[in-house]
This record gives sequence, structure tokens and C-alpha cells, in this order.
Amino acid sequence: MAFSAITGQKQIKIRLAAEAQRRGSGVYMLSGPEGTGKRLLAEEFAKALMCFDAGRDGACGVCSNCKYFDNFTTPDVTRVYEPSDTKNVKVVFIKDYVVAESYLKPQFARTKTFIIDFDYLGVESQNALLKSLEEPSKDVVFILTSSNTDTVLDTVMSRVTEIKLEPYSDEELEEIVKANCPDLEETKIRTAVYNSGRIPGKAISLAKEDSGVSIRHEINSIMIAMPESSYIDVLEDYCDVLTGFKDDYKIVASSILLFLDDVGRLVNYPDCRKINNEMDRDAIERFVAMNKHIDTLKLGRCSEAVNTFLRALEVNSNFDSSASAMLLRIHEVLKK
Ligand SMILES: [Zn+2]
Repeated sequence: MAFSAITGQKQIKIRLAAEAQRRGSGVYMLSGPEGTGKRLLAEEFAKALMCFDAGRDGACGVCSNCKYFDNFTTPDVTRVYEPSDTKNVKVVFIKDYVVAESYLKPQFARTKTFIIDFDYLGVESQNALLKSLEEPSKDVVFILTSSNTDTVLDTVMSRVTEIKLEPYSDEELEEIVKANCPDLEETKIRTAVYNSGRIPGKAISLAKEDSGVSIRHEINSIMIAMPESSYIDVLEDYCDVLTGFKDDYKIVASSILLFLDDVGRLVNYPDCRKINNEMDRDAIERFVAMNKHIDTLKLGRCSEAVNTFLRALEVNSNFDSSASAMLLRIHEVLKK
């Protein structure tokens, strides 16, 4: 990937590619609301700084430094992103892995680069960094990102070259959504963009929610057809559908559980006011009426099969075999 693989931010990409070719030291602050792609640009900029043969589009993508970068094995790039266990990055981490490290020479590249997400840096950590930001060694580059520079100390802001992200055009936003949800219909892509406040991250999550609704709908149709289906239908057609949703296996599992929950509600309280899948209520009511053999016990067995499927995928089991095992079990329980 090079800068041209990132949609939008044309002027910034030109500027960062030029800075990378110049290979000066410096402190940059990419700023813009959450979900606008700051980290993507920061990563690409760092890669261009590493690259032996960076050009007007940034990193070459083929040299050994680019390979190390892609495999996260270069010792010359340090990333400080959201910590997994605490709200903010610990000061001791900043002192040991950023400040101390910034005085060392790069090993493979000509620059040592630090990408630091300031959204996770408290006042103490920011203060610990001040001196390093003030006089960075000549082969050190700091790429800072912030979604709200009001939380960044003035003493930090006065030391950085701030690069504010540009607003995205509708076309750019549509392109970004399409790349993330390739199967979503055009009208739905446009709706997601329209409601996104011009934030690509928001547009993507709206589009994903929308594809979540279509996954649910499709899963409901499979489940409704299950009692009348043959073994071959399950093994060929239904397994194929699930394979198409492989990346969204959690949505698949939750869709089946929501369907089972709805059936349970309608079996026990036919007049219940609200079910999870209101959009498919008529079809699910018919399903319940036509399948009197399905009781709470059977629904429980199906839920067990879904949970087994989820556990298997969490330990990276093969998707197709886990999905077919789950569907066959559900079929066995629900069939007439
Ligand atoms: Zn390269």
C-alpha cells in the first residue's frame, strides 16, 4: 500500500510523501475528529519514512524495510495506541519505550519513528514527552495524532507541526464505504454517507449495521425453511450462505440466537408485544404455527449448537466445518 491506496486527503498525502523523501526529523500532529483516518495516514507516513526507496506516492512496498514494516518487525517504529488494560497509557511506558528509545540510533532505517495517539495520553505522560518533542534527535520523527487538540497541552501544541485533516467529499466517502462493505446496495451506501456527518469511520459503521440487518433477514429465511429442508439443502445451500458472511460470524451467531429467542417468546406468549425481529414477525409467527413440534427444549439445543460454533471460531477453528456442524445440528433438532 502507498498513499494512493488511501482515499481522500490529497494535499496531506502529497505533503507527507514529500516530507518522507526529505527525511528530516520533526514532530507532526495529525488532527481531526475520531474516525477520519488519522491513524491510516500516520502509518503510511511512518512506512514512507522507513522505506529505502520512497517516492512521490510514499513507500515502495517491496524493499526490506517496507516488508519489516508490514510484518510489524521493524525495531525502528514504535506505536503507542490505546492500552488494552487501562484508560490511558502509563507514564512509565512513555518513559521507557518512547523517551529512552528516542535517544537510540535507528537500526535498519535512516529514521526512528514514533506514532503516538494522544487521545490516550494523560497530562503526566504528555509532560514526560515534552523534552523529547522539543529537541528530537536529528534522525527521529514523531507522528502524533489527536481527535481533540483541546486535550493536548499548549506546551506540546507549540512544538508540533499541526496537519488538520480535510473534510471528505461524498464520492470519497462512498468509495471508502464500498471498500469496506462491497456487497451493500448503492442506495444503502448513500444513506450511510448521508448520515455520517462526513466522518468515514461513522459511515463505515452505519453501513455495517445496515449489512447486519440484511444478514439477520437472510438468516431468518434459512431458519424458517429449516424444518422442511433436506440434508442436502443444509449442506450445500445454507452452508454457502454462511460462508459468504464469514467475516461477520458474530452477527450470524447472534442472528440465529435472536431468531430462536423470538420463536421461544411466540411459543410461550403468542401475543407478546415485541420480538427481536419485528421486521419478520409475520413469517416467524407462521413458522411457530406450522411447527408445533418445536418446544423450549429443542430451542435450547439449537442455542447450544450456536454457542459451540462461536467457541470454535474464537479458537480459530475452520469456519466451513464449524458452520456446517452447527447447521446440521440445528436441522436435526428442528426437522419435522
Ligand atoms: Zn520500501
